[in-house]
Amino acid sequence: MIDAHTHCFPPEISDNVSQWAKDNKEPHWLELVAPKNKPSLQGWASKESMVQTMDDSDINQSILLGWYWENKTTCLKHNLLMKEWMDFAPKRLHGFASIYPNDDPINQLELANSMGFKGVGELHPVVQDYATNKAQWHAMAQWCEAHNWPINFHVSEGLNVKYPNFIPTPFNIYLEIAIAYPNLKIILSHWGGGIPFFELNHKIKNHLKNVYYDTAASPLLYDINVFRNVINLVGSEKILFGSDFPLKVYPKKQKIPEMQSFIKDTRLNAGLSKKESDQIFEKNISELLSL
Ligand SMILES: [Zn+2]
Repeated sequence: MIDAHTHCFPPEISDNVSQWAKDNKEPHWLELVAPKNKPSLQGWASKESMVQTMDDSDINQSILLGWYWENKTTCLKHNLLMKEWMDFAPKRLHGFASIYPNDDPINQLELANSMGFKGVGELHPVVQDYATNKAQWHAMAQWCEAHNWPINFHVSEGLNVKYPNFIPTPFNIYLEIAIAYPNLKIILSHWGGGIPFFELNHKIKNHLKNVYYDTAASPLLYDINVFRNVINLVGSEKILFGSDFPLKVYPKKQKIPEMQSFIKDTRLNAGLSKKESDQIFEKNISELLSL
């Protein structure tokens, strides 16, 4: 099995989250991992504990995703860290680079390419200000389309009860990029926040032909029936299993971060056929990245 959505937030950051966020000027991330007056859902892992957790869950390979940092320097730093993890287990850990699209993305992409990364993301078009830097975002998308690099975008639920730190992500941004770069592989996180429904619209469906949806954080957001429903909307060939490790997606029962509970829940309760399960847990991402 391959986990298409994990993060690399190591203990050296977790030791002093607020100082680290302050030093790096990353207030949005701090609000997410250390919300005021609420227990944090964020867990932490070292490269060793990550590989151990993968072994415990029969996960052969994981995709480490970058983060939607608000500064280019944090992105560069994070990529160095991810590279260290990739070098630690080169057959097991692959990386999508943290990119700050607003400032010379091509240089960052070339550097990430030389470091062995295979894609970009997770990006957040609102936190990272797509609206005022469209030209650079499009240059990035064009490079990724030409190099066959997927981009993973964070997508917030299209409809929700407002909670602290909730930042809506207008669906039209993703459609705009998909239309402009028809061969770009786009991965919309968190089931695309509801975008699969719009694939029932004939005019939109065609534009989203290279769009995939990952299941990251699903147990926190949706009922397990989301699997069957999204398969009915877009087909099992467009769905990628992602845990969002080391996020604790079952906060009541998870003391330490792990992928096993989500995998077990999916295998037992999502009603997947053997073929669907093979596609979602391995085949789709493996083809996308030629793993
Ligand atoms: Zn996300």
